[in-house]
Amino acid sequence: MALLQISEPGSKPAKPLHRLAVGIDLGTTNSLVAASSAGAVEILADDEGSHLLPSVVHYPAGLEPVVGQDALDQLTIDPANTIISAKRMLGKNLLDIQAEGDANKAATSLYQFDQNSRDGVPQILTAAGLKSPVQISADILGTLASRAESVLGGKLEGVVITVPAYFNDAQRQQTKEAAKLVGLNVLRLLNEPTAAAVAYGLDTNDQGRIIIFDLGGGTFDVSLLSLQRGVFEVLSTGGDTNLGGDDFDRVIMDWICSEAGLDQITDSKSFARLRNAAIAAKHSLTEADIVEINFENWQGALSRAQFIELSAELVKRIINTCRRVIRDASISVDEIDNIVLVGGATRMLVIREAVAEFFGKPALAEIDPDKVVAIGAGIQADVLIGNKPANDFLLLDVNPLSLGIETMGELVEKIIPRNTTIPVARDQEFTTFKEGQTAMSFHVVQGERELVSDCRSLARFELRGIPPMVAGAAKIRVKFQVDADGLLSVSAEELSTGMIAEIQVKPSFGLNADAIEEMLQSSQENALADMEARSIGEARLEAQQLIDALASAVEIDGDLLDESESLLIKAAIEKLERANTEGDSSEIRVLTEDLNRVSGNFAARRMDLHIGAALRGESIDMIESSSD
Ligand code: ADP
Ligand code: MG
Repeated sequence: MALLQISEPGSKPAKPLHRLAVGIDLGTTNSLVAASSAGAVEILADDEGSHLLPSVVHYPAGLEPVVGQDALDQLTIDPANTIISAKRMLGKNLLDIQAEGDANKAATSLYQFDQNSRDGVPQILTAAGLKSPVQISADILGTLASRAESVLGGKLEGVVITVPAYFNDAQRQQTKEAAKLVGLNVLRLLNEPTAAAVAYGLDTNDQGRIIIFDLGGGTFDVSLLSLQRGVFEVLSTGGDTNLGGDDFDRVIMDWICSEAGLDQITDSKSFARLRNAAIAAKHSLTEADIVEINFENWQGALSRAQFIELSAELVKRIINTCRRVIRDASISVDEIDNIVLVGGATRMLVIREAVAEFFGKPALAEIDPDKVVAIGAGIQADVLIGNKPANDFLLLDVNPLSLGIETMGELVEKIIPRNTTIPVARDQEFTTFKEGQTAMSFHVVQGERELVSDCRSLARFELRGIPPMVAGAAKIRVKFQVDADGLLSVSAEELSTGMIAEIQVKPSFGLNADAIEEMLQSSQENALADMEARSIGEARLEAQQLIDALASAVEIDGDLLDESESLLIKAAIEKLERANTEGDSSEIRVLTEDLNRVSGNFAARRMDLHIGAALRGESIDMIESSSD
């Protein structure tokens, strides 16, 4: 299951024709574009020589949008029309964004959203009209693409765009949509940590375990990669799409407000100035031990030690995530060979120190942490467009949450467990529950819990045209496929007729990583309760199946029962039905057993009758299907 192949860095392209393809790191805070030239992949700079394009778009009235540094400069002048951190809003609906309030403090206090938008799609009211996160991302991608086309002197044939490992379907789909809006051909979406590993050319090592620690402006991703004779495999991932350098800004902003005796800043211009002061202080503390801060009429100083104290809660969350990623892979910290730092926020000393302390060794950071991801994407793009000879280098990603299907009793049957490497296809056979059932409805869910109601609903679809059969006779194969971009498709096939129904999981609105985190935590906390829930669910299901089967048997062959037997069975059914709504699992099991016992003779007589019929030349099928 080769996902993609990457040649060794430095190997010279043999083809005379060099096709233009670039790698794009579409960041929350900054975006970059990289391309290979003369065998090496480099970040492409704009006319002024800057590599980083701030992921900011200014929408002035009646003019073309302005992207990048010039837009960032508008942030204090015209904040309502200057959009930052659009990536945080990708794949989410308005309610999600507003509910996230805190993480999106910047967004919700700076922008006005159109409250009447269709299906809750967030649309920001700007002087240039309504702008969706997809449109804003498209404007950023378009700027990078034209930068690349002017530097490279030709038309781009393809792009590789990186996304956080935790991006869900909706977020990935919307990233692709944004690229399509500006006419870009997406060769592949690539997980950011995976791109970083590629940039480091870690294939030259024979083997090892590597942690990719990516703390950007708005997202945090940790991935554990294993390397075996040039083959990378992502063993586990973790992260938080709402944790990043911005949160450290916020900690400083809150500190300034409390020191300056200011309440909530509601004026958007002061808010933007406060934010800038905080960012400047945070950056200075990477070099200096103490920094002076001026805001409005207030003046003060923040020391590195104070900053470490203020950030303690955030750092704890970050390290806990690292711990979980390692635990998920069932290894210990000393089995990690290398830690790679990615993302501008890993420049903060408080982070470097915490990482070194937790892993017991300092992290690698030779490649500029801002550029690593784009460089890796550029290398991938060059390979995927066909400029490099294929090599035996495989990259595998993983599925972050289990994917499964609802079965009877509102239970979840996991088909693709969490942390399975992708692309992957798995199937499982199911059967009908009701006699003569001709349609089945499927409910695709995501999450770690045992009950459907505790998981996230992804999609529903139906398979019709199942030939009527007795319960349990139809065979339906359900197949789950997750492609290299992490997108899921599910199909269901009735094996005797070949009737098939399938669904591509639609860009349903997103889950943020806090929600993923919560889902994982609650599955651990509720493991016992879930086991009981599953047990009672299964007991109820078994009981109901027995009751239904007996009811239809009595209808067909009731004349085989004598009166006292009939009464006994009836009473046992009533008891079991009551237990099935009120009792616990052991009570249901005992009463199911009772019903089985009192109806055992009846079942045996039916069997004799039907086998006798079969011996007389009538098929069992004919007799059984005569019931519908
Ligand atoms: P993203 O991947 O979200 O676009 P980046 O990797 O560009 O983000 O990182 C941006 C974050 O890095 C911002 O929060 C920025 O303030 C922070 N950052 C950049 N340089 C420094 C520095 N010298 N010290 C501390 N933080 C920094
Ligand atoms: Mg980044």
